Amino acid sequence: MNQKLKLETLAVQAGYTPENGGPRVAPIAQSTTYKYDDAQSVADLFDLKRPGFFYTRLANPTVDCFEKKIAALEGGVAAVATSSGQNANTLAIMNIARSGDHIVAISSLYGGTVSLFSNTLKKMGVEFTFVLPDAPIGELEAAIRPNTKAIFAEVLANPALIVLDIEKMAQAAHRHGLPLIVDNTFPTPFLCRPFEFGADIVTHSTTKYIDGHATSVGGIVVEKGGFDWSNGRFPEFINPDESYHGLVYTKNFPEAPYSVKLRVQWIRDIGTPMMPFNAFLSMIGVETLHVRMERHCQNALALAEFLESHPKVAWVNYPGLKSSPQHALAQKYMPRGASGVLCFGVKGGKAAGEKVMNSLKIAAIVVHVADIRTGVLHPASMTHRQLSEQELIAAGVSSDLIRVSVGIEHIDDLKADFDQALRQA
Ligand code: PLP
Repeated sequence: MNQKLKLETLAVQAGYTPENGGPRVAPIAQSTTYKYDDAQSVADLFDLKRPGFFYTRLANPTVDCFEKKIAALEGGVAAVATSSGQNANTLAIMNIARSGDHIVAISSLYGGTVSLFSNTLKKMGVEFTFVLPDAPIGELEAAIRPNTKAIFAEVLANPALIVLDIEKMAQAAHRHGLPLIVDNTFPTPFLCRPFEFGADIVTHSTTKYIDGHATSVGGIVVEKGGFDWSNGRFPEFINPDESYHGLVYTKNFPEAPYSVKLRVQWIRDIGTPMMPFNAFLSMIGVETLHVRMERHCQNALALAEFLESHPKVAWVNYPGLKSSPQHALAQKYMPRGASGVLCFGVKGGKAAGEKVMNSLKIAAIVVHVADIRTGVLHPASMTHRQLSEQELIAAGVSSDLIRVSVGIEHIDDLKADFDQALRQA
């Protein structure tokens, strides 16, 4: 589909074009396999000589529609959907780093990603250096080594809500021949399209705003295209892949070598594709992304302003607030709104905050974010529980921090709910 179309049109229409008389909505291809009339057709598919489907672990028609829709929304050349956001970030790294390699990452990442990097991928031999997201660029560049393979960051950090200076970070990465990989889960392509600012790979937990209704766990990795994988740092892209009959990714698939490699090596071998039913639900979800995100942003700003003026509230962090030190960066990278998540602390600290959380009637305590229903969470004892004291500080998670995922209910009801809960603290 023409990528020059507006994002709202792409959200609704991209990814699936019905044939004459075909179903209007992309159908669920709930089938593991596909039937062919002759053996050569299947051999050609295995050899990647022509596109098509042969086994759902590698590709599936419903998942394919979802991948094309998200690639169009982000403005990338290709996308690979995965079983979860965790898996998207795992494969985004493993696709370019092997044992003995190194990655520079910002420290204010989602707790699950910090744990993945500093424990599990470390055990597999990949080393990570964490730098503060607002560290001077010189400090970031000083962390780059000859064996560094990428810089990894979140566009809007969960839950510290620090806005990434994507342009600055991309320039630093490119000076060293490295791709910038960004997790764009919180902004979504409706609020920010990181490729336009120089990022090379975008990941998502599609579990969040893309699905939007808390129905489906999923992830996706999107490739911008055009990165020079033959610059000397990435031999696996230019040398024959013996596990795939000597395929050379940059030569055989010059348009999207990173995505093809991720699919035919990692999804094939590790076996973590998105399932067709989840792709179907996520696709229905993302078709209203633009409508939902507008309301999430409006409600979050209004609730942040309300909390900021509330006598029981100690502090509020929302990059859309004029008082936020993040405001200028948020205006630059997310001019349509600063997403639907805010954080605050209650006077009286953690205990008072717990009382407020327990007293809320509309907002529910949930280990989730980006749902149409408002939810609250205490990261230090929940999502970031596995982090050390030091990692919590680096991630911007104070012990009194309450994260609110502001839904799309009526704002008056949300304000009234938080007001009655705060009065009980
Ligand atoms: N990235 C971010 C920014 C997240 O917030 C999360 C989950 O909260 C993930 C990745 C992991 O995604 P999933 O829960 O779909 O595995």
